[in-house]
Amino acid sequence: MELKDLKKEYEEINVIGEIVFSSSQIQGKIRELGEQITNDYKDRDLLVISILRGGIFFLTDLVRSINAPLSIDFMGISTYGISDTSGGVVRITKDLEEVIENKHVLVTEDIIDTGLTISYLLRNLKARYPKSIEVCALLDRNIRRMADVNIKYKGFDIGEKYIVGYGLDYKQKFRNLDSIYELKIDAVKKDIESIR
Ligand code: 5GP
Repeated sequence: MELKDLKKEYEEINVIGEIVFSSSQIQGKIRELGEQITNDYKDRDLLVISILRGGIFFLTDLVRSINAPLSIDFMGISTYGISDTSGGVVRITKDLEEVIENKHVLVTEDIIDTGLTISYLLRNLKARYPKSIEVCALLDRNIRRMADVNIKYKGFDIGEKYIVGYGLDYKQKFRNLDSIYELKIDAVKKDIESIR
């Protein structure tokens, strides 16, 4: 969906700011990532894991740009904001269907921010003895990083701005925009502070 169509659908459209990455920039970057992953995994069976819900947009485009045998699986999580008392606890709401022992695993994420979510998941998945495990993230906001994460395949770096579109939501909306936009921070300041 393009922003101009969304205008008819949502009143909250006034919270959407400048475009940050266009659909064609995103798709171009995904083709590059797909080529790198194809080269690295061409002789190996790969299991690509996506984190629900926002990550599925990235996963479906990424796997179609990988020219190697692979399967996909999903993990559902719910996070509690790091600013609250739970200290970034991640709860698994849907576990993998596949057994990952002895498999080559690639965990995909739309954006890695503090890194707390992915580090929790990596710890959990490593305890299941995969043959290898790597991370592919479309967006890397390393200025807010609190946990060390090795992102082997990285799309774009991003600064402080809070973004929506291409799977990323604001109050569960705007995931279906095919480009990534900045959220007008003044319009949503209170909400963003409570999410973060
Ligand atoms: P982390 O544990 O790395 O801080 O959190 C990663 C998750 O936070 C992402 O998968 C995403 O759901 C959410 N997130 C982080 N930054 C943004 C952002 O700028 N916009 C949106 N919509 N979600 C974000």
